[in-house]
Amino acid sequence: MNRLARIAYLGFVAGDSKAFTIIHQVSFAIMLGASAALLSALRPDSAVADDSILTGAGLLIVATLGAVYSERFSRAWVPNLVIPLLDFLALGLCRWATYPDGGVLSILAFTPVVWLVTSFRTRGAVISVAAVLITLSSVSLFGGEAPVDAARIVLALILPVAVILVSAMIIGLETRLSSTNLRLSAALDRQRDLTRDLQRTSTLLRGTGASVDVGVKVLDENGTTVFENPAFMTHLNAAVARMTGEQDSPADAVAAGAMDAGVDEVDMFCADGITRIPPSDSPLTRARRGERFSDELIWVGPQDGEQLALSVTAVGWQGHPGIAPHTIVTTQDVTATQQLIRARERILASVSHELRTPLTSIMGYTELALDELDDGSAAAASAIASYLTVVQRNSDQLLTMVEDILRTQQTQSNRFELEITEFELTPLIDDVVAQLRSTAADQEVELAVESAGSPTISADSKRITQVLTNLVVNGIKYSGPGHRVTVRTQSDALGAGFDVVDDGAGIPAAEVDQLFTAFFRGAAARASSQRGVGLGLALVKGIVDAHAGTIAVSSIEGAGSTFSVRIPSRDEGIRP
Ligand code: ADP
Repeated sequence: MNRLARIAYLGFVAGDSKAFTIIHQVSFAIMLGASAALLSALRPDSAVADDSILTGAGLLIVATLGAVYSERFSRAWVPNLVIPLLDFLALGLCRWATYPDGGVLSILAFTPVVWLVTSFRTRGAVISVAAVLITLSSVSLFGGEAPVDAARIVLALILPVAVILVSAMIIGLETRLSSTNLRLSAALDRQRDLTRDLQRTSTLLRGTGASVDVGVKVLDENGTTVFENPAFMTHLNAAVARMTGEQDSPADAVAAGAMDAGVDEVDMFCADGITRIPPSDSPLTRARRGERFSDELIWVGPQDGEQLALSVTAVGWQGHPGIAPHTIVTTQDVTATQQLIRARERILASVSHELRTPLTSIMGYTELALDELDDGSAAAASAIASYLTVVQRNSDQLLTMVEDILRTQQTQSNRFELEITEFELTPLIDDVVAQLRSTAADQEVELAVESAGSPTISADSKRITQVLTNLVVNGIKYSGPGHRVTVRTQSDALGAGFDVVDDGAGIPAAEVDQLFTAFFRGAAARASSQRGVGLGLALVKGIVDAHAGTIAVSSIEGAGSTFSVRIPSRDEGIRP
């Protein structure tokens, strides 16, 4: 049963030609065999010859076997010709055997006719008509005792004419079907080409999208995302990660479901970094509303944390007249540039402030001195002298600051020469400490030197003096009254040098990495009355680097800091 169902499925649904042949032939054989057998059994007197039925049955069996083993024929057309012809013969014999009652059997002739016409088209039709004439019309014409008259001739010709008509219909239908098939397969080819083009364009788009660092998001007319490149997700992830405090792990933010929140849920601020943008006014929401804007600067992420600066643009896109307008939103990470701009503004403000203080003092005291000029008394002369001393101190301070700025620039662009000599470190340390003793005393800071021997180094002594001076001055400035700054000579695997140790306020861990950046000042330094523009350590680092040396900082907040400078002993370590 299963086998039959499978053959039926293959023949009628899957279009398997062998299964179709078998079904065709078996159903024909059953119909013909059963009808002829029944007729000859029920009307035994009309049977002209029982032998003919047996021969017909034999032919049917041969034809059916031929259909079952049709694939064994070396030429495919042979079974398609031979089997229908055998069917015609079998049909003719059965018709002959059941004459005149078996006239209805002639209808079965259309089975081999259809087979022949579908296999050989016009030739099949000609063969069919000939076969019908020979096997069936001949019986209608000569069967029985009655004489051949015009009526019998007309009756005998009805079937061949019907076969011609049916064949013409089948051929016409097939021609139409095959032309439809041709058009369909051409359309399929075009469709395939289009799909390939589409796939190529989509791959190209995704590849291009993945290789640029500009975030791109495309929204359709309903505001639904139809394309989003990795950079857009990265910007979003970075913002979300900063928001959730997982700065190095956007994946965690995703895992936390923060991604689902979308960019609208992230803290957003206007260009000033302070004014919060409500979700209803976020760039994406505005783009979805149909607003168009370009290069709008926003800051994303919490105000008290690290923020990401994004330049966002929304443009409309009408690619094709038939396609509804889309919106393309692009994001560009401009954090580095914005931070530089912010830093420059901070530096300008800080330098201007630092320059203005001594300048104001110089101008004030110069005016006072000028006022005293008219008075020729000795008291006036002494007042003028004291005013000029203040003017001189402030001018020195100004000069030092300007020189610091110039020197930092020189060190950063490697535009300075080193005068290398070999010298002992202890005398240099003693000199610097002696010079700064009064400054330390003013600040009530104790200055000490601890020398474990006196290492000799090859270096530019003036520059090393500058390094030590800056470090000791910082120690004094940032430790404050009651504290102690110690300079220790040291030698280790990195070379010979010194440690400058203080037991002051120390440096927050978050600031340690930025200490040597020009113009950087710690939060505590900025809040204090201690003057400075954040160039001392940048200068120190530049000089140490030029000597191929190292500078290390270890600091504990509340316990103090140690700056360790080492200059390698090898000459080749020094920059020429
Ligand atoms: P400035 O002293 O002009 O601020 P520096 O480059 O010398 O610039 O120092 C940069 C910052 O490093 C200081 O503002 C301060 O925050 C920090 N710093 C440097 N030395 C010390 C120290 N010994 N103790 C604590 N903080 C220090």
